[in-house]
Amino acid sequence: MILVEHLNLTFDLWGDIGWVSNVKFVPLDLYRNIILILNMRRGGTKGDYIGGTRFRVYPQPPFSDPAAPPETIEISTPAGRMRAGPADERMYFVRPVGKAYPYGINRDPRGRPFFFLPPWTGPAAPPVEPGPDGHFDHLEPGTPEFEGAHLFAVTRFVMDVWERYLGHPIRWHFGADFEQLQLSVLPKWDNGQVGYGYLEVGSIERSDGALVPLALNFDVIAHELGHGLIYSEVGLPALDAESGEYFGFHEVAADWVAMIAALHFSSVTGALLSTTSGNLYTYNALNRFSEFSLNEEIRLASNTLKMSDFAEGWRDEHKLSQPLSGALFDIFVDIFHEALVEVGAIRRTLEDLADATENRPELAPAMQAEFDAAFLADPGAFVFALEEARDLTGDLLVDAWRRLSPDDLTYADFADAMIDADLALTGGAAQRVMLDNFRWREIGLVEAGPRIGPPGRHAHAFSARTAVPQDEADMWPMSYRQRHLQAMMQRGRCCARMQGS
Ligand SMILES: [Zn+2]
Repeated sequence: MILVEHLNLTFDLWGDIGWVSNVKFVPLDLYRNIILILNMRRGGTKGDYIGGTRFRVYPQPPFSDPAAPPETIEISTPAGRMRAGPADERMYFVRPVGKAYPYGINRDPRGRPFFFLPPWTGPAAPPVEPGPDGHFDHLEPGTPEFEGAHLFAVTRFVMDVWERYLGHPIRWHFGADFEQLQLSVLPKWDNGQVGYGYLEVGSIERSDGALVPLALNFDVIAHELGHGLIYSEVGLPALDAESGEYFGFHEVAADWVAMIAALHFSSVTGALLSTTSGNLYTYNALNRFSEFSLNEEIRLASNTLKMSDFAEGWRDEHKLSQPLSGALFDIFVDIFHEALVEVGAIRRTLEDLADATENRPELAPAMQAEFDAAFLADPGAFVFALEEARDLTGDLLVDAWRRLSPDDLTYADFADAMIDADLALTGGAAQRVMLDNFRWREIGLVEAGPRIGPPGRHAHAFSARTAVPQDEADMWPMSYRQRHLQAMMQRGRCCARMQGS
């Protein structure tokens, strides 16, 4: 009853806060209110409220720290509305039996290309059942059931996070043909991909030969959903308007979708802050993230590449994405440190010292000592500032995406959109740091050259994931688009994304 009485208050008061799905992170009553609000926004009523559904997930892959137990999260779908699968109104998990190849464009025995799309009509493992209370937190790690539920829960969690920034449910780009996203695993496939109606992941082989399921890898799943989010929010370019920078932008967006989602776990923010004392500059400047297995996206984002590094051309869109990802990381760090100053956790002079350290590395130990002391004095303020930076970055990205056209997209277009988004959301509070960082990366000053050589085996660009069923009618005889896709497939394996690539 308290929830219902507080509803009108909380709707306005909390509708705008950084809500999180990690139950350890916020007071439970507040958390439930937020879930209630989300459910009602989706057309439910007060009477429908029975809480979200609990799952256990690994915010970091279990193989990076085998001793770390999974964490309990609650996704926004009420337990009473979850079905075996797991499945809800937006997505469902299926474990196909005997599925020989991934979705997308494949070839028939005569070598002719054909589309392979959900639904899966072959045999499948039995759906994963909820526990008697409607939750899925009873499943044991190490079982296929846990794996399937993990894939579902992470995808749904990342959706919950980003639907708050979007302010509306994600509209699937394949909504004309499928109501739900199909989640599936293909264990012998060493990739992950999202496409028209599907998100599927395989496994990677460890050096000792063991297969590690990507269904347990938060970063990979969140990254793939990030691509799906961009298809919905920015759209697919016309075939003759596909720019290299569009694909680099896609990778950056997918990485940031994953990174911001991961920063909703207190274990992830806690590890980041306790390892750095909030001094993210040093990590960037010294590139020490490579020693730090916290989050793949953070490691990729922390780099010093500029557009002139790609002026002659590029081979892989993951590499090409790094100047833009790095610019965004630096902007994020600046916003975070600005928030630290605003809440009184660090002195303005420390932020100035951080700026000076970029050119004078000998100042780094003194700066680190000041950060260590400040973090020790008030760790809560650092958590608050990190969440503020996370949420402002999420809001800015969403606002910027809405301003973009996918056709012939350049990093400069995205930088302009971010500056406009900042003007609209904050009145230009981050304009200086954006201009400085985009300029330092030479975004808007130097354009990427042409693609050099065929796509690598981990390339996303020109992948079957951007194909849509309307193309199927043109499959034989092949349309220009089809021939183009086929040529790309012949030149290199498409649709791949591997951890660390
Ligand atoms: Zn990707």
